[in-house]
Amino acid sequence: MTDSDDFLEHTGLDTLAVRAGCHRSPEGEHSEALFLTSSYVFDSAREAAARFAGDTPGNVYSRYTNPTVRAFEERIAALEKAESAVATASGMSAILSTCLALLQAGDHILCSRSVFGTTTVLFTKYLKKFGVDTTFVDPTDMNAWRDGFRDSTRLVFVETPSNPLCDVVDLTRLAELTHEQGARLVVDNCFCTPALQRPLEFGADIIVHSATKYIDGQGRCLGGVVAGDRESMGEVLAFIRSAGPTMSAFNAWVFLKGLETLRLRMEAHSRNALALAQWLQEQPQVEKVFYAGLASHPGHELARRQQSAFGGVLSFRVKGDREAAWSLIDRTRIFSLTANLGDAKSTIVHPATTTHGRLSPEQRAEAGVTDNLIRLAVGLEDVDDLKNDLARGLG
Ligand SMILES: *Cc1c(COP(=O)(O)O)cnc(C)c1O
Repeated sequence: MTDSDDFLEHTGLDTLAVRAGCHRSPEGEHSEALFLTSSYVFDSAREAAARFAGDTPGNVYSRYTNPTVRAFEERIAALEKAESAVATASGMSAILSTCLALLQAGDHILCSRSVFGTTTVLFTKYLKKFGVDTTFVDPTDMNAWRDGFRDSTRLVFVETPSNPLCDVVDLTRLAELTHEQGARLVVDNCFCTPALQRPLEFGADIIVHSATKYIDGQGRCLGGVVAGDRESMGEVLAFIRSAGPTMSAFNAWVFLKGLETLRLRMEAHSRNALALAQWLQEQPQVEKVFYAGLASHPGHELARRQQSAFGGVLSFRVKGDREAAWSLIDRTRIFSLTANLGDAKSTIVHPATTTHGRLSPEQRAEAGVTDNLIRLAVGLEDVDDLKNDLARGLG
């Protein structure tokens, strides 16, 4: 069973976040059921044959059919305004599955240079081995995007706002350019989630997510999801059926519950982050703050058009060198020192020696990841406590 098109079209996002994909079992449970089963039984040999062949709908094996996972996929598709979605074991397997389902040897990816570090490794080390080349460009430079296309470019891959400097990319223009070149635009929408930004509305073709971050929201489970047109998602699901990077039913159940509070949490993360960004800007020990919610940020106007709030991630440069950044980090007591983000608990990290440590010094310089840069993923604590904690850090 799936939600009717009428329900999906005429229902608000807050309702969809709570109600989409809710198909009760005959037990009549109110909260979503968790189907912990690897396989399913059939009424007859004929029925088994028809299910395996895909001639009749229904569950076969939880590597590619599970009602709890399906409910999560339907809810994400409803929120992203996509025809369909496919869940995966992690954010990285969402990106890998998209590429392996839709690309072949000889194809080319045009990618923002400000993407999650592991995405860069996946493209340059692993996809490269199978004949898929990637070119990286400055995401805010439309001419660089235009010059980066080859005849073989099939996918354009971008994150907006970017990590850690919050560069904002014009999705409408990038989608137009991508389509002129006969390619598809893939957006990693992890930082905003559909609660703040729905890239398909600006012309993007495919969304990927790390559900591990804000969709869970409390740092419990790994997961990912791909959303887009029905045909491409069919290809992604077929890949997952064959290759097995499947989301566990338990994790899907956690994420389903996470989606119910996603907008409330994203608004609270955004509110806290904006307050901290404004406060940091006024501190004499701070050199520069990067947050698209600040009027001084070059991407501010664009972010206001594309996003309904500015999200929970910001970064700033302290005056001084690496020692100044490290000693600030070490003096905080509330912020958790971890590279994770999207948690109710605020986190603090030194990108140059952790998340961006695998880049060469030149690549770090290009990405603006200086030794005095600190990234915050602002959680849901009292913002005054967070300010006091950073004030202690600033010394
Ligand atoms: C964390 C993250 C990923 C990878 O997700 P996992 O669930 O850790 O595999 C991909 N993209 C972005 C933007 C991320 O922050």
